[in-house]
Amino acid sequence: MTPEDTTGDASEYDLPHLVMTYTALNSLSILRDDFSKLDRRGILRFLSACQRKDGSFSALPNGGESDLRMLYCAFVISSMLNDWTGIDVDRAIDYIRQCYSYEGGYGQTPGGEALGGTTYCAVAALHLAPDTQRFPRGSWLTPEERERTIRWLVQNQTHSGGFSGRTNKLADACYCFWCGATLSILGAGDLVDERALVAFLTDCQFKFGGISKAPGERPDPYHTYLSLAVLSIITTSHGDDESWKLPQLDALWNATESTAAWAREHIPAKQGSC
Ligand SMILES: [Zn+2]
Repeated sequence: MTPEDTTGDASEYDLPHLVMTYTALNSLSILRDDFSKLDRRGILRFLSACQRKDGSFSALPNGGESDLRMLYCAFVISSMLNDWTGIDVDRAIDYIRQCYSYEGGYGQTPGGEALGGTTYCAVAALHLAPDTQRFPRGSWLTPEERERTIRWLVQNQTHSGGFSGRTNKLADACYCFWCGATLSILGAGDLVDERALVAFLTDCQFKFGGISKAPGERPDPYHTYLSLAVLSIITTSHGDDESWKLPQLDALWNATESTAAWAREHIPAKQGSC
């Protein structure tokens, strides 16, 4: 690669990254790529190189941040490939369980404070996990643990109608997704006060477009996307406000159902190929 190259600092020796791999597969599915050039074995080797001894995943092979966010990406990628041979699922589930906090949410790493975002990563990953001998489906969460998680998430919906990401914090539009989507995955989406949630997100809209983290703040793509994402989970299943009607979202992969269906059909290896 020459310095004049228009790709800037990119090089063929750049390391692959777990989050980028997940978002690339999702973006290519949105674009309806046929995945004929996808190096599936390479991705499986990459996932294996990212898993640490404690079951967690780092963003890069043999290095980088290692926590529940990366683990979630590894689980979605395995689920999209419909191939779990790249990761040790039992060790990963052990790691998720260690991140469970007394409050009912999950910390980013073992012993950490319960956070809305990492609770989504943990619960979504557990629901994506395949059956294993040690952890038959559903055995990774006791009914008491599930109830405590639901209670903590419901308590995070504040008087403003929005969700906070930690106990005793202010509501923020992105946590409306992290907490709302998790409740939906746990089969408790009907416990969200939907009218209050819609009213909060409506107030978070900026007068020149976009959605901000809280009323009166500046909008950004992250909070705009996650606000629309939660509205496409919660209001299509329980709501009656037609003005926010959006395509249904697959809460586990964070993609519209039509994109998830495309990914399911085109990403896994065809019989006899790799
Ligand atoms: Zn936020």
